[in-house]
Amino acid sequence: MDKVFIKDVPSFCRMNRQISGVLSLEIKQEHSDGNKEIQNLVPDQVVQVQYQFEGTESFEGKFYLKGSWSADVQLMCSYCCEPLTENIMAEYPALMLVSEKEDPLAYEEDCHECRFDYFDLKPWLYSELMVMVPISPKHSSCTIS
Ligand SMILES: [Zn+2]
Repeated sequence: MDKVFIKDVPSFCRMNRQISGVLSLEIKQEHSDGNKEIQNLVPDQVVQVQYQFEGTESFEGKFYLKGSWSADVQLMCSYCCEPLTENIMAEYPALMLVSEKEDPLAYEEDCHECRFDYFDLKPWLYSELMVMVPISPKHSSCTIS
């Protein structure tokens, strides 16, 4: 099993540590009913997510993660229903990390609530990937009629 985690978020950020690599994410379709975001995914595929993140601490003592991930995902063309591979990615210029004890709604910035002693990036990357899956993927040769 791949493990991607940050032990001790505060010191990771204070010391500007970096974490990078490739993570295998097993995408399951069991909860796909009614979920538009993942209905065009080829079922039960393993996606290799390439990620790199760096921790930073602001002058106010807030902790941030900056970096990006990208992955080739197998999708179904919503026009011809044949498979297509799409590279999807996301960049995080400054994602604030808040501990579970804090209320993320108290901040106006983009932030993610996580455990500070052991932040597991895998479930977070999984949900981020799901959000980025295009709703109507198409081959470049499949144009809207
Ligand atoms: Zn197509």
